[in-house]
Amino acid sequence: MIAVLKSDTTPQQKEHLLNWLKNMGLDVHVSEGKEKTIFGLIGDTSRVDMELLNSLEIVSSVRRISEPFKQASRNFHPEDTVIPVGDVKIGGGHFAMIAGPCSVESEEQIIEVALAVKQGGANILRGGAFKPRTSPYAFQGLKDVGIQMLLEAKKASGLPIITEIMNVRSLDLFQDVDIIQVGARNMQNFDLLQELGKTDKPILLKRGLANTLQELLMSAEYIMSEGNEQIILCERGIRTYEHYTRNTLDLSAVPVLHEITHLPVVVDPSHATGRASLVPSMAVAAAASEADGIMVEVHNNPSRALCDGAQSLTPAQFSALNEKVRRVREAIR
Ligand code: PEP
Ligand code: MN
Repeated sequence: MIAVLKSDTTPQQKEHLLNWLKNMGLDVHVSEGKEKTIFGLIGDTSRVDMELLNSLEIVSSVRRISEPFKQASRNFHPEDTVIPVGDVKIGGGHFAMIAGPCSVESEEQIIEVALAVKQGGANILRGGAFKPRTSPYAFQGLKDVGIQMLLEAKKASGLPIITEIMNVRSLDLFQDVDIIQVGARNMQNFDLLQELGKTDKPILLKRGLANTLQELLMSAEYIMSEGNEQIILCERGIRTYEHYTRNTLDLSAVPVLHEITHLPVVVDPSHATGRASLVPSMAVAAAASEADGIMVEVHNNPSRALCDGAQSLTPAQFSALNEKVRRVREAIR
């Protein structure tokens, strides 16, 4: 971090600022120029309040030259992180094909979809039990009962399962869940992130509807700073002025994240587009952008789905998508 001081700063004021920064455990490289003095802050600047520093009378500008996230940064961990989930691995060349319904609706439904997506090439089963719906009158999920049904589907299919948590209070219900999902709406629920940081479960962290990639990584940092380093990032589309699609899939997020972080990145083309007809193209594009996995919604009867039927694929469509993704991955290898 660099702080540029105003030209009329007195030696006493500089000394005072220097001591203040050193007391924070930082080394300071002072460069005295003709016009201005520049302080180069060396050490863990992630704890420096940039706005506060910038607001000081004698400071003319402050600039970060390293990212505010540390543990998530590739600079601090050059190797790709690989996350083991049962027999599956995610990251570092290992691909997650996550599929299943938006929400668990009944035991028959989730088992039928689990067996069908496994047959179609999925290696992880998704299904929401706690559903964050825009309307309080919409189907809210089967909650604890839904998780039990998902566990039955895990038993029947042998697939590891992922499901969303909305609240710290329900954490006990997730003991046998393989990956805990934090949805877009909870990306900045910092209490929840910190509690998940104390668990040893892989966490799939979705990008918020209007969040930057830096904010996504700061949320990952919340989890990591509590000790849990098993985080899978998920790009699921962001809100723009375009309404033809439910969201706008920011696919450049994949190579950008691969540059700045070692954490695996998966893409959710279902919530990104909102329309089943657009999902296969975007899934293929995600694979071509070297994502570490894809998460798609699949329903045995999309027109009767209690949630997100319009963006859900049939098992046959999923199977065709999986084959295309496989071929694209092979082609770019
Ligand atoms: C989901 O995956 O079921 C979901 C609600 O997604 P998002 O948080 O991305 O909207
Ligand atoms: Mn959904």
